[in-house]
Amino acid sequence: MNLTINNLSKTYSNGVQALVNVSLTIPNGLFGLLGPNGAGKSTLMRTIATLQEADNGEIWMDDLNVLEQKQELKQTLGYLPQEFGFYPKDRAFNLLDQLSMLKGIKDKSERKQLVEYIMKKVNLWDDRKQRIGTFSGGMKQRFGIAQALLGNPKLIIVDEPTAGLDPYERRRFHNLLAEIGKDIIVILSTHIVDDVSNLCSNMAIIDKGRILLQTDPGEIIKDFEGKIWEKDIIGINMEDFEKEYHVISTRLFAGKNFVRIFSETDPDNDFKSVESILEDVYFYTLSTRS
Ligand code: ADP
Repeated sequence: MNLTINNLSKTYSNGVQALVNVSLTIPNGLFGLLGPNGAGKSTLMRTIATLQEADNGEIWMDDLNVLEQKQELKQTLGYLPQEFGFYPKDRAFNLLDQLSMLKGIKDKSERKQLVEYIMKKVNLWDDRKQRIGTFSGGMKQRFGIAQALLGNPKLIIVDEPTAGLDPYERRRFHNLLAEIGKDIIVILSTHIVDDVSNLCSNMAIIDKGRILLQTDPGEIIKDFEGKIWEKDIIGINMEDFEKEYHVISTRLFAGKNFVRIFSETDPDNDFKSVESILEDVYFYTLSTRS
């Protein structure tokens, strides 16, 4: 299965160009769409989910014309939006049961079996009788995945899923996505670089509506090996420094400020060569956009 996006563009009525000629090919597995706030991620996710129209372009899921065959797409799509509204008094099992009825599963025992299977998969079976309003952030996200899994989708879209989760909940959510992403396409839209580096076999970086890079995270990190350098910057004038070096980020570690730069050759001046990470690729790509 491949999701292919060709020259997708969208300009909102206020003149904001949210998508500019976006083209991407997304295979089975976990795909990370990484970009800062306002980059156009949600616009792209909502367009793929056929919740809003593009001005131009096409989206194909194998030979299904997504933007023309919306009903067919919806039958194979699971969508977890940024803001997922639940009626807080609903109990988890009952709500999933109702939602599966809406998905067209009429047989009661078939529904029960399916809901049980999915609730066990997302690790909420023991909480099935709880009201959703009492769930933690991580439980709500796992419940969101559960509803997205109803109807056996071939494509799942999750928009900014780990914002606000604690590290334990995030890890648990990652494991769940990794398991689901074995057989189908899962698109994970996020501004958190670690979500992508831990999980995704494919990724793209988007900014100001344009795709700046589509790559395999593991491969691209190797391309940056030996080119990332770091030093502490006590007493340094950053403005002068930025004129001399290609600064990609600064970070605080153990109370000291460190700067990371990109340089093909040894910059001397007390810089130490450091291991490249996906964050370097991300900041470098954003810093070199035209
Ligand atoms: P992201 O999900 O990466 O944060 P969005 O797709 O939400 O980005 O937004 C992309 C750009 O489009 C932003 O500049 C945003 O302000 C603008 N935008 C999003 N939705 C609308 C809308 N309904 N009307 C006008 N502008 C919008």
